[in-house]
Amino acid sequence: MNLEKNLKEIFGYEHFRKGQESIIQQVLAHTDTLGILPTGAGKSICYQLPALLQSGVTLVISPLISLMKDQVDALNVAGIPATFLNSTIDESEASFRMQQVENGTTKLLFVAPERFESEDFIYFLRHLPLELIAIDEAHCISQWGHDFRPSYVTFAQYLHTFPSSPTILALTATATPKVMADIQQLLNISPENTVTTGFLRENLSFEVIKGMDKHDFLKNYLRQHPEQSGIIYASTRKEVEEVTDFLNKNNFPATRYHAGLSESERQRNQEAFLYDFTPIMVATNAFGMGINKSNVRFVIHYSMPATIESYYQEAGRAGRDGLDSDAILLYAPNDLRIRNFLIEQSEGDETYKAHEYEKLRQMQAYTSSETCLQRYILQYFGDEGDDCGKCSNCLDTRERIDVTIDTQKVLSCVIRMGERFGKTAVAQVLIGSKNKNLTRWHFEKLSTFGIMSRQTQKQVGELIDFLTAENYLNVTSGKFPLLSVSQTGSRVLKGLDKVYRRTTLLTEAKTSTSSE
Ligand code: ADP
Repeated sequence: MNLEKNLKEIFGYEHFRKGQESIIQQVLAHTDTLGILPTGAGKSICYQLPALLQSGVTLVISPLISLMKDQVDALNVAGIPATFLNSTIDESEASFRMQQVENGTTKLLFVAPERFESEDFIYFLRHLPLELIAIDEAHCISQWGHDFRPSYVTFAQYLHTFPSSPTILALTATATPKVMADIQQLLNISPENTVTTGFLRENLSFEVIKGMDKHDFLKNYLRQHPEQSGIIYASTRKEVEEVTDFLNKNNFPATRYHAGLSESERQRNQEAFLYDFTPIMVATNAFGMGINKSNVRFVIHYSMPATIESYYQEAGRAGRDGLDSDAILLYAPNDLRIRNFLIEQSEGDETYKAHEYEKLRQMQAYTSSETCLQRYILQYFGDEGDDCGKCSNCLDTRERIDVTIDTQKVLSCVIRMGERFGKTAVAQVLIGSKNKNLTRWHFEKLSTFGIMSRQTQKQVGELIDFLTAENYLNVTSGKFPLLSVSQTGSRVLKGLDKVYRRTTLLTEAKTSTSSE
């Protein structure tokens, strides 16, 4: 079968993009498949084309109720017979749509995962010539993913029970090795049938901005990028309001989106953004899943997100058209405190929380690391890559300073404190703090007490963050992460390796301030 010819005839695209053809070939050969392609890579074609080439029905499970209508409308416009069932459809309309699927008029059916809670619906599926079940946002099935949804576990148990033995196609843009293994196991897809093109997004330039007034940054950036479309992610509704007001007062064309607004306002604002009437969208993470706006030139995170997965997914909404785009994270230490608080307040048992703390730690390490930011993200997803040459770390021209001695001081202090304390306590001992919590442990007797007294606790804390991000120090996950010296760190202690750092010279006196 000449798949490319079909692609052109049906969708008007000249060529397949990376990964698409192998996934489609596997699906047509009835092989259960997991496809991991970055956001914007074109996952939908991977089930849409087979749906049209096969005689049976294709079921698409998607958590994005609000977008189903748009997706189905777009397919109908292209002459593709598709429909959807979700909570917005009344019963008589639903049974009409189900009839259309039964009699073969409609070939593609979109449903929300919750539909599987209905026995009638399962009965309906059992009597269909189901040929393919596509599962969008498949990472939602994993507890270790960033968006776990129990409804995914519910439907998974039915997948292999239908008499017509449909092929299973799971699709996602974000899966760490652990999440990938989880999807394979829970959906019974063998690892060799996983197609992944890697996570690299060559057209994105990553940047971490620390120690700068966030308003000033926005003003400067937007002035330098007039008339460009972009998303600014804020962490709370209040922050969305605050940033939108600030931008509007400064005459930047911005609209807003968060779960606290009415359905109609959300719809209106989303459209104003999609059609470029208001090119800047300020939003919480409620905005964006499935949004298909190709010319987003920048995604700025006004605060640090909770995980690298959500960061990469949100940042990945920039540059879907393949043109150069910016992914910028504005970091302030308070972001970490807020995120810690949110985990502490969240529902979920201790194991769950420990995982969330660990993911947060890796997110924060992204902001302290001096390695290539794109490579850092790729490594997080278990992928390899070269330095991108264009992120803020690759472009950092500051001289690298030898911080081996200071590193040795920190590492040996961690060891002398029995590797049972966290960043704050270690930094306090190093600067010789009189804090009562420390005297209780008699740390003033340690030889490392006060050996960095010429620096502030904040400066030493930043060095510890850097050493953690660069893996000289290990850190336990949890609310109070404890530091220990890694193998890489031991080599520095033994004088075998040297450590270089680009940031502020640590031998400066206390008077040097960082504006963070
Ligand atoms: P994803 O779900 O992976 O984020 P989509 O399926 O929404 O991505 O596709 C992103 C965009 O790429 C859509 O506008 C889609 O029409 C377009 N697209 C998909 N495949 C191709 C292709 N082979 N050639 C050109 N454009 C494509």
